[in-house]
Amino acid sequence: MALWNSRPLNGAGAVNPFGGAPVKNNGEGRLAADSVKCPSCGSNIVYEPELSAMMCRNCGNIYAADTLEPRGSLGISKEHDYMGDSDMSEEDKKRHEIVCNSCGAALVADANTMSTMCPFCGSPALITRRMSREFKPDYIVPFKIDKDQAKKNMMAWLATKKYTPWGFKTKSRLTNMTALYVPFWLMDCVVHSDMSGTGKVGRGTTKTIYEVNTSMTYHVKGVPFDASVKIANKLMEAIEPFDYKDMVKFESRYLQGFYADKYEQLPSDMTERIIRRIGKFSRDESDIAFKKYDQFEKRFDKGFTWISDASVKYCLLPVWFMTVEFEGSQYQFAVNGQTGEASGQVPNTSVIDKLDWAVKLATGPLKWFPIAIAAVISIFIWMITNQSYADGFLAALLTVLIVIEVILLGTIAVVSGLAATAKIISSQMRKAANEINDYDKDPGLDAYLDSTSHTDFKVDEKFLRHVVLITDDNGHVIGERSIEV
Ligand SMILES: [Zn+2]
Ligand SMILES: [Zn+2]
Repeated sequence: MALWNSRPLNGAGAVNPFGGAPVKNNGEGRLAADSVKCPSCGSNIVYEPELSAMMCRNCGNIYAADTLEPRGSLGISKEHDYMGDSDMSEEDKKRHEIVCNSCGAALVADANTMSTMCPFCGSPALITRRMSREFKPDYIVPFKIDKDQAKKNMMAWLATKKYTPWGFKTKSRLTNMTALYVPFWLMDCVVHSDMSGTGKVGRGTTKTIYEVNTSMTYHVKGVPFDASVKIANKLMEAIEPFDYKDMVKFESRYLQGFYADKYEQLPSDMTERIIRRIGKFSRDESDIAFKKYDQFEKRFDKGFTWISDASVKYCLLPVWFMTVEFEGSQYQFAVNGQTGEASGQVPNTSVIDKLDWAVKLATGPLKWFPIAIAAVISIFIWMITNQSYADGFLAALLTVLIVIEVILLGTIAVVSGLAATAKIISSQMRKAANEINDYDKDPGLDAYLDSTSHTDFKVDEKFLRHVVLITDDNGHVIGERSIEV
């Protein structure tokens, strides 16, 4: 079965898992479509920027871009096929689907689950209908945390957030938390990663240069990828990990009183996500070996991460889920229904925007208006003090003008001082708020490393040469000269 040809080719702007600039896939030269065939099955193969390699979308095999040497496979084995939408089990036929008229969400529930509100958009406009597509999860991790505990954990997590709008962190919102089983693909695979670069040792004008190649193989078990389109991937990553020791074969009774979402994405729809996550972790790990050099330059064209022996399980994981609508935007929150880990995305207070607006006003073109008035007044003052005859009225006018001028200049000085301070405060608040109020960082793969399997990390360091840096009269480096050993 063709696993890969359902995915549209998405080269432009794709993220290179090895960092650096995104790799362009412009179909030029030997990478042009139609010109290269899969050595294994004969289908066309294309350059995959996420892999820095050629991949066959028909069989999942991967090949080195320059030599077409086999570099593993992205074919993922599943416990059974999940493609069918008509082939529903007898159990599926007995289930109901609760459909939201407002956002289109369709959740699975048993016949007795009453629903009052859509967990994704908060709309009460829900209708119940028969199942429209297969559901059949293979495994489930049942809920362990009840709603009261979930609310407590969410409040504690919210308390750590800064610069949030007034009235956002109210307890009353938390009553909307819904117990939701979220569909996940749990992936087991072997990861292979080769990295390459040039390391320099020595801080003065004499340096030693090495070519460094790392080669890494490790096994991961149960890396979760959520298959629901409506729930932010980052949110689900933020409440990881789940403990799979509670994982059991799915049975209908676990669904009583809960909602479940159906998978909307297959593992083959997630290549980019899978490779990006695995590539990032591999890159971070190999960076540890590069730290011992004073300078290190990575060769992005030689970095390569691929997986083999991949298999997935389809599993429902327990999540207390909530969407909050605030000033026209929706924010999603979740508590891990097994471990109690809470996360979400909190809006920043509008005070920051208002401060920025005031600063802009005070430092924009309008600031010339009081300055111009002050200039005009100073001309009058100059003219009055320069006239030769005495006049009671002019003397009084002069006093008034001087008072106005002093007040005006003082105000200009104070306002520009305040604007400068406000600018510093607002930029610090924004920085802190952006850092703290976004989803918690992705947890890497540490929790999924399979300790029972062999992990291999080889570093090959090859001495290249000693060099002396050549500097000009100002001390700028203008070149380097190799020294014979
Ligand atoms: Zn092929
Ligand atoms: Zn809805």
